[in-house]
Amino acid sequence: MNGQPRRSAYEVALAQFDEATSQMSHLSPNTIKFMRVPKRELTVNFPVEMDDGRIEMYTGYRVHHSTVRGPTKGGIRYHPAVTLDETRALAMWMTWKCALMNLPYGGAKGGVIVDPRQLSERELRRLTRRYATEISIMMGPEGDIPAPDVGTNPQVMAWIMDTYSMHRGYSVPAVVTGKPIQIGGSQGRFEATGMGVMFMAREALKHLRLRVEGSTAVVQGFGNVGAIAARYMHMMGAKVVAVSDVNGGIYNPKGLDIPSLQTYVRETRTVMDFPGADKINNTELLELPCTVLIPAALEGQITEENAPKIRCKVLAEGANGPTTPDADKILMDNGTFIVPDILCNAGGVTVSYFEWVQSLQAFFWSEDDVKRQLERLMVDAFNSVLNESREKGLPTRMAAYTLAINRVAEALELRGVYP
Ligand code: NAD
Repeated sequence: MNGQPRRSAYEVALAQFDEATSQMSHLSPNTIKFMRVPKRELTVNFPVEMDDGRIEMYTGYRVHHSTVRGPTKGGIRYHPAVTLDETRALAMWMTWKCALMNLPYGGAKGGVIVDPRQLSERELRRLTRRYATEISIMMGPEGDIPAPDVGTNPQVMAWIMDTYSMHRGYSVPAVVTGKPIQIGGSQGRFEATGMGVMFMAREALKHLRLRVEGSTAVVQGFGNVGAIAARYMHMMGAKVVAVSDVNGGIYNPKGLDIPSLQTYVRETRTVMDFPGADKINNTELLELPCTVLIPAALEGQITEENAPKIRCKVLAEGANGPTTPDADKILMDNGTFIVPDILCNAGGVTVSYFEWVQSLQAFFWSEDDVKRQLERLMVDAFNSVLNESREKGLPTRMAAYTLAINRVAEALELRGVYP
């Protein structure tokens, strides 16, 4: 990857917020002050018994950025580079994402400093159950509803749901989303983020009078978001020429066979050495000429250093916070069309909302219903951002931010400051 981001994720989140609110002269300074800081933050240090009987101490976080528009919603990340600062940034981005999609939620995020690949399944289960218990004072179906993020998956959500339910004495499926369908998960949730990224790439290409069919795509990160976005781009007729994971990337200018690659990754747990492709590193991958570039790994990947070398027509941000504000300006000057993260990867939280509604009502929707509603909400949000961008002469990211921040500000002013 491209070294450390210059500014921390939270500094980037604040810089984006400040830039957006500087264009919103109707907002009162009091409202801005209120929205700029997270509502509550929890740090937990907790023991986990390892398989050999040793006790290891772990640190985790849960941050609620805003509860103004409803309960908080946001994923849980298991990664060695998790920090409180990063968790704050991700929680803030969730507030804007939920508001942009008009979901009745505020933003949250959680994480544990751990490399889940180094733990056995039993260790991961014990870590998850203990972390879930530690953050249960901030979690609940009416208050704060976690979901998967980097390093977590439906199985981890099942353990969190079970742990919370054991403490209550009855099953509480609505406490998490992204859980397996057999215990109340939603059809289409697993694919939702990647599918949404494809919808947004398709709409951006349409806007540029281009088509997915015959375009080329490059995807950084081959996890829940990246692999599924690659799969849908491939299904829609794009040539996915390069993908990567934490170990490095693979490249074939004729296009990679994504379904075979997914089978290969299920067996080997990496994209590396996939037959018929050349090796490429994560830096080179981002600089490949392509129609659509989809960063779907971590924050701070496109910076002022590599932005001048980025050669895509559309940047579809599958990851949260992949582009720094300095890089944004360079990309815009070069005419790149950016679908900003809070819009591009909002398919996950949108179907999470559908899942929460289904869990609360114990009434389940068909896969067709889920996908149709997801496409409708995302295409509507894309068009709102495009209109705002045209009307106000704003870059797409700032258009998305101002729409979202306005909704939070309106709710905040209607509710007033307690007491
Ligand atoms: P994941 O753990 O399923 O996959 C992450 C992928 O990125 C893996 O292939 C991993 O090997 C790769 N990766 C990790 N570190 C890397 C590095 N240093 N260089 C290159 N690749 C690296 O995670 P995910 O759920 O797919 O999340 C990816 C991004 O999408 C994150 O920014 C996350 O916050 C965001 N996101 C996820 C969801 C969701 O529903 N899972 C929703 C919205 C946004």
